[in-house]
Amino acid sequence: MSNKPEILIVGGGVAGLALATRLGSSLGQRGQARITLIDKSFSHVWKPMLHCFAAGTAKNENDRISFMAHASRHHFEFWPGEIVGLDRTNRQAVLGPFHASDGSVVLEGRTVSYDALVLSIGSCANDFRTPGVAEHCLFIDNLVEANSFNEKFRMELLRAYDAGNELDIAIVGGGATGTQLAAELHKALEIVHLHSFSQTPPKLKVTLLEAGPRILPAFPEEVSAAAQKQLEGINVEVRTSAMVSGADEQGFILKDGTRIPATLRVWAAGVKAPEVTTGFGGLSLSRSGQILVKPNLQTVDDPAIFAMGDCSFIVDDPLPPTAQVARQQAHHLARHLPNFILNKQDIPNCVFNNKGAIVALGNYNGWGTLPGGSVFGGGFLKGLSARLGHLMLYRQHQVELYGFTRGMIACFADWIDSLVRPSVRLD
Ligand SMILES: Cc1cc2nc3c(=O)[nH]c(=O)nc-3n(C[C@H](O)[C@H](O)[C@H](O)COP(=O)(O)OP(=O)(O)OC[C@H]3O[C@@H](n4cnc5c(N)ncnc54)[C@H](O)[C@@H]3O)c2cc1C
Repeated sequence: MSNKPEILIVGGGVAGLALATRLGSSLGQRGQARITLIDKSFSHVWKPMLHCFAAGTAKNENDRISFMAHASRHHFEFWPGEIVGLDRTNRQAVLGPFHASDGSVVLEGRTVSYDALVLSIGSCANDFRTPGVAEHCLFIDNLVEANSFNEKFRMELLRAYDAGNELDIAIVGGGATGTQLAAELHKALEIVHLHSFSQTPPKLKVTLLEAGPRILPAFPEEVSAAAQKQLEGINVEVRTSAMVSGADEQGFILKDGTRIPATLRVWAAGVKAPEVTTGFGGLSLSRSGQILVKPNLQTVDDPAIFAMGDCSFIVDDPLPPTAQVARQQAHHLARHLPNFILNKQDIPNCVFNNKGAIVALGNYNGWGTLPGGSVFGGGFLKGLSARLGHLMLYRQHQVELYGFTRGMIACFADWIDSLVRPSVRLD
């Protein structure tokens, strides 16, 4: 039994893997603390790319990072497992049994002790208990769901090729996820056509449903209007002020009774924390189930427990659930947790530095906002700069995790791959 302090990080997404990497390379490498990461899957993916995996325009075998391999390089431990509860009195995280794909139990449920616990389990779309959504809609909140959507997309395309029909897809949620997915699906179909065995490829009809008055509400109005125009130009029907009241196997039903027929129905609206947070030993939660934290990311109820990224909610000063916020919060804790755990020093408040936002509509166009409120992008060349900016965010993430040389090799490997394989998933 070691007497090193134990830092347990649960959730290896944008925030959790950045924190584990940095703490492993500092405290872990120096032998000053034991850093353990737990995640319910075996590999990390950059969640802002999920819509590309769903459309098949990015290859997830290239873009996954194995937690075990990464942990061994960066002096932390990784265990697969799903947190199902917390025993705050004994400072233990409770993990459920770990199952193989055939349902058999591989690891029994168990507890893992901590001196400091960081929760970074992300979020999922919020269906607001709309009738029929859970049963009849697809979600793209994680890689499994994105792959499952992609399989259905390819199979329905094949059916439409054979029958010479149009394929109808409806997406609920005009935020970055829904908007980017709509464009990416069209981009995917254009590439599929290049490899097509039919002279008369099927048409794709995507309908984007947004309850609010405009899509991309987090962006300035001029970006919303330009993005809507761009989407309409590639045959996406954008319906704003469209409140969905239900879903069934034929499509969506709007509040005014209109039916939107759709073979594939995607729910990409709203954000809430995973249900499991309600079992976290009585930690206070927001209405969306996010864990309430102070501005220094310590939970309001327990000084030994921290939460960051999408699953957290800063009381009085909430921040949007974005990768930028998650990353900055991880860097803040990486800087200050060592002194907290070794020298019992308080953690200062985390000050968010807004660096702007970027949205990319497939190969078609892109826009970004800068901190002062100015907008760039739009038009072919400026749109290209915004699209490259979006790609750079991912490359920056890779370089941060892999280090400069390996990050560049990963980038080069992707380029080589694009020379020999189709740029859309066909199998
Ligand atoms: C399609 C899509 C596009 C997006 N595009 C953008 C964008 O362009 N720009 C932007 O800033 N943001 C974007 N976002 C939002 C961004 O991805 C999130 O804000 C960010 O990933 C949050 O990071 P996180 O570390 O909090 O959670 P995540 O990155 O979601 O990581 C959570 C981790 O926790 C693990 N986990 C979950 N539950 C458990 C459990 N019970 N036990 C153990 N492990 C668990 C998961 O496996 C995962 O590894 C997008 C999101 C989506 C879905």
